[in-house]
Amino acid sequence: MPSQTAPGVFTQALPSYLDPNHLGPWGIYLQQVDRVAPYLGKLGRWVDTLKRPKRTLIVDVPIHLDNGTVAHFEGYRVQHNTSRGPGKGGVRFHQDVTLSEVMALSAWMSIKNAAVNVPYGGAKGGIRVDPKLLSRGELERVTRRYTSEIGIIIGPSKDIPAPDVNTNEQVMAWMMDTYSMNEGATATGVVTGKPVDLGGSLGRREATGRGVFTVGVEAARRIGLDVSRSRVAVQGFGNVGGVAGKLFAEAGARVVAVQDHGGTIYNEAGLHVPALLDHVGRHGSVAGFEGGGQVIPNEDFWGIPCDILIPAALEGQITDKNAGRIQARMVIEGANGPTTPQADDILHDRGVLVLPDVLANAGGVTVSYFEWVQDFSSFFWTEDEINARLVKIMKDAFSAVWQVSEDHKVSLRTATFIIACQRILHARDLRGLYP
Ligand code: GLU
Repeated sequence: MPSQTAPGVFTQALPSYLDPNHLGPWGIYLQQVDRVAPYLGKLGRWVDTLKRPKRTLIVDVPIHLDNGTVAHFEGYRVQHNTSRGPGKGGVRFHQDVTLSEVMALSAWMSIKNAAVNVPYGGAKGGIRVDPKLLSRGELERVTRRYTSEIGIIIGPSKDIPAPDVNTNEQVMAWMMDTYSMNEGATATGVVTGKPVDLGGSLGRREATGRGVFTVGVEAARRIGLDVSRSRVAVQGFGNVGGVAGKLFAEAGARVVAVQDHGGTIYNEAGLHVPALLDHVGRHGSVAGFEGGGQVIPNEDFWGIPCDILIPAALEGQITDKNAGRIQARMVIEGANGPTTPQADDILHDRGVLVLPDVLANAGGVTVSYFEWVQDFSSFFWTEDEINARLVKIMKDAFSAVWQVSEDHKVSLRTATFIIACQRILHARDLRGLYP
């Protein structure tokens, strides 16, 4: 039986996987939405829109392995919301990806895209596969079959995938080609994060890290932290953490610790960031770096004396087990969902400022938007133009979030959700229901 959830709104009880008490990323997202409900005013009648994905697709992805056998992988594409424009969000390849995780990531894309005011809804995709176990040919076949299977719901004006964990420019090139072959015409705008020679955008690879750095500098100014004298610790030293670390070092900060899947290295005097980036580029991780610094146990990373901590790896890294040890004044979430809600509360109580993922890592999708616009117009911008526009969008979004957080005395995460949910639900309200 439908029950009344808001004045004039009757809704069916949620199935268990949509239940806010269900632990996991989707449950966490629902709790975040509940915190915002009191700030939605009349738009609150639409809030259930945010609590269920618009469209969810599960696909079987069979491929021939190199040894001649057939393997099946499960793939997903979730369009959480399209009220403000087409779905937009990355595709991740990971052995532990689940539908609930992809649902949460798609919802966080809706929030992120609305927070920086790019004209997109939110979407995300994934394949339950460990790409490290696949040959290049197998990886290409998985990518192509997955793209073909989700081809019924993606498209340049419907839903535009991009890179995420374990996917890159090459994977995007295969996705673009597969979609184009099925359509019978080259459609560069179907994915972003492509190689520059194939309709990709200058500055896209560095965009997320540049956005992390930009909001970090803005926040540091607000709390009286001098970036040029700050100490920075980074978890994950790829596209996001590596670029952010480089920009902080160029601004005079000391990058004192870096952790990735290869281990943790520490240097109180500051690591040599260009040498470390070069090492990671050649060897795949920080393991074996001999350019100055000592290897320390992974668990010690969280207690390292620093001013700025940047988790830029996977979800669920800052938990109630390590949040109490963090010494930083500010955490900038380069990854999606790196802080559990309990850890968020602990950091808040301890006065550690958290710059939430849905704001801090929005630089990637912002330049994805520039890429999509460039593809449509077949007119490409210079890197300086792209970076200038990116920095402006990130600064404006940060200022708006900071203001709402001051006005309502809420965390930056809740403030970001307030702005984003209002934008999404206002669009929903203007469009109305069909039929
Ligand atoms: N995967 C990135 C994110 O989580 C980028 C998404 C995009 O560019 O569409 O924000």
